[in-house]
Amino acid sequence: MNARVALQLSGIERHYGEGDTYLPILKGVDFTLRSGETVALVAPSGTGKSTLLHVAGLLEHPDAGEVAVNGLACNGLSDDRRTAIRRKEIGFVYQFHHLLPEFSALENIMMPQLIAGLPKAEAAERAAALLDYMRIGHRASHRPAELSGGEQQRVAIARAVANAPLVLLADEPTGNLDPETAGYVFEAMEALARQSGLAALIATHNHELASLMDRRVTIEDGKVVELK
Ligand code: ADP
Ligand code: MG
Repeated sequence: MNARVALQLSGIERHYGEGDTYLPILKGVDFTLRSGETVALVAPSGTGKSTLLHVAGLLEHPDAGEVAVNGLACNGLSDDRRTAIRRKEIGFVYQFHHLLPEFSALENIMMPQLIAGLPKAEAAERAAALLDYMRIGHRASHRPAELSGGEQQRVAIARAVANAPLVLLADEPTGNLDPETAGYVFEAMEALARQSGLAALIATHNHELASLMDRRVTIEDGKVVELK
């Protein structure tokens, strides 16, 4: 596959603690994610999936190694530049939706677009289109508390991709959903990748859903390795 490299991790190291509490988590992670590709990150609890996603998403700095987004090395950049790149190129979805409770589904998806400077009408139009795409257009005016878990996660995904990022990072996005609902959420992410060229890295414990992705990787001894 020769699609453009959306995200490149090279020699990533990350530890927690110091001295007696020194705990190495990532010990030289190399990983390439290409546009339009979906990759499942399947590894036991505590192996560093969240740490890896946070470093990849420019939410944390690695202790060593380089994160390149769309070919641009990000380590040496100022916090402002990193934040700008994160907002433009990276969408993040968490296990719990983190939607703003006071706002409707539509408004939650408009928010990142307004922050990016889009006019309100355009942001609303794209938010509505994304809700339709996720097959929850009829829930546009509902607040998060009025949505089911699966609907909340689909809104969270729509919000994550509202600014058409290059990369979607999802940290056990279906961890608290029933299997059928989890299936819909995975389908939505896969369809987005296929149709918009989004690159997706999705941490999950669900092997069945992982098998729907293009590739599967795990974390072994602090490194990312391909699963067959
Ligand atoms: P996963 O997402 O695969 O469950 P994490 O990346 O959350 O794993 O955590 C990897 C390891 O790092 C775990 O052992 C966890 O306890 C430890 N850890 C995570 N965050 C911190 C922190 N802020 N301080 C100390 N240890 C941490
Ligand atoms: Mg985790």
